[in-house]
Amino acid sequence: MRAMVLDQPGRPLRLADVPEPEPGPGEIKLAVRTCGVCRTDLHIYDAELQGEPKLPLVMGHQIVGEVVAAGEGARRFELGDRVGVPWLGWADGTCRYCREGRENLCENARFTGYDVDGGYAEFTVAAEDFCFPIPPMYSDTEAAPLLCAGLIGYRALRLVGEAERIGFYGFGSSAHILCQVAVHEGRRVFAFTRDGDTDGQAFARGLGAEWAGGSSELPPEELDGAIVFAAVGPLMVRALKASARGARVISAGIHMSEIPAFSYDLLWEERTLGSVANLTRADGEDLLRVAPEVPVHAAVTTYPLEDAQQALEDARAGRIEGSAVLVVSE
Ligand SMILES: [Zn+2]
Ligand SMILES: [Zn+2]
Repeated sequence: MRAMVLDQPGRPLRLADVPEPEPGPGEIKLAVRTCGVCRTDLHIYDAELQGEPKLPLVMGHQIVGEVVAAGEGARRFELGDRVGVPWLGWADGTCRYCREGRENLCENARFTGYDVDGGYAEFTVAAEDFCFPIPPMYSDTEAAPLLCAGLIGYRALRLVGEAERIGFYGFGSSAHILCQVAVHEGRRVFAFTRDGDTDGQAFARGLGAEWAGGSSELPPEELDGAIVFAAVGPLMVRALKASARGARVISAGIHMSEIPAFSYDLLWEERTLGSVANLTRADGEDLLRVAPEVPVHAAVTTYPLEDAQQALEDARAGRIEGSAVLVVSE
């Protein structure tokens, strides 16, 4: 099969002909239709994450595929079913975090497109218990970004609590989906883009943001909570400066540049800083139930599989409005 292979971080992905993976016990084999490109893939490529990825590696953890084979004991899906594979590829179910319903923090978790091969390929295998049925209203391309940008963003939104005035710092793949959910929930969204990115600000307003501006600006009102999607540590401090008493500021990324020192005054009055890590299956089920009700529509730029490197570079440069998706087969 064709796959885009990462041999070493920093080295361009290589189009290779590799053996098709075969499903083990409890696994299904998928013919990949689409695979979303995530900011995390860039962090893997840049060797910015703690720990070591499998190498060589097939990245990609927002996979929409069709079930073409089932391993021993795998009975959850029928051949031909369309399923999604997220970042959490497997959790042990037995560690203290899993037993507390926090499998996103599992000490032995395996992540798709990091510890195991992912979806930048014609076929992949996945543990069936960690896959999701895809809502029928979504096309293969539109469904892909929901599987990480959407559902890890959704977990971040839940961590922000009941905030009515919510700031989104960095308005890319994740924020453009969550903006729609937040507006649907009756929240008021304030969107922060790179300074001077008037196209990005117009994009945010078009999706229901009440106000959009550059990230060095203060919003016209205090924020009751904020999610920092961009991997830029100083934005955590800017979000605190924009926040009302009791506000929660959550980083939604897996990596972030250093957060500068700041005066305790900014944190005082029960403001909190926090982070979101990974997802639980419950997060995924919740988002995939809510998304059609909103209804969420992802803005998607598509690339053929062999242009995965270009998609990564366009994502890095902020050239993509919404989400980048590899179309592997149609
Ligand atoms: Zn991701
Ligand atoms: Zn566990």
